[in-house]
Amino acid sequence: MNDIKVAVLGSEGVGKSALIVRFLTRRFIGEYASSSECIYRKRLSIDGRQLNLELYDPCSQAKPSIVHLIRELHLGATKRDVDSVVFLVGNKQDLCHVREVSREEGQQLAAEGKCQFYELSAAEHYQEVALMFSKVVRNASLNGKAKDR
Ligand code: GDP
Ligand code: MG
Repeated sequence: MNDIKVAVLGSEGVGKSALIVRFLTRRFIGEYASSSECIYRKRLSIDGRQLNLELYDPCSQAKPSIVHLIRELHLGATKRDVDSVVFLVGNKQDLCHVREVSREEGQQLAAEGKCQFYELSAAEHYQEVALMFSKVVRNASLNGKAKDR
């Protein structure tokens, strides 16, 4: 399996586009067009395997309920008979002095939703952002390999 598709979902303004652009270009540019959806493509080499990554950046969504979203993602995967790879990511960690959701709440939600949990900052943490996306891609590709067998 050489194609990996990753969707970055969440409410408007949480920094979905900023995370994707940071991962792809290493840069944080501050303002991102939000009027239309975008699919970014990148070729990656993970563990010596060439992969085609598609990153889906939706145009802004209304406020989705995260619990509902996680449930829908797991359900969709079950219907297609694949294991879901869902990461719950809290962005803007540089603004943690005005945080509204505690790390513990995030961790608990991730545990209940069987997701991996990350807190990071598109503005300040290039390495963490790159690591997080790499893990998503690696998990998704291992998942595909397991299903191919
Ligand atoms: P989207 O609607 O989820 O795609 O959100 P955007 O990527 O357009 O980001 C919304 C706003 O949040 C923009 O003004 C970004 O500059 C800002 N932003 C995104 N990530 C961060 C971050 O990690 N830290 C801070 N301080 N601002 C961020
Ligand atoms: Mg956006």
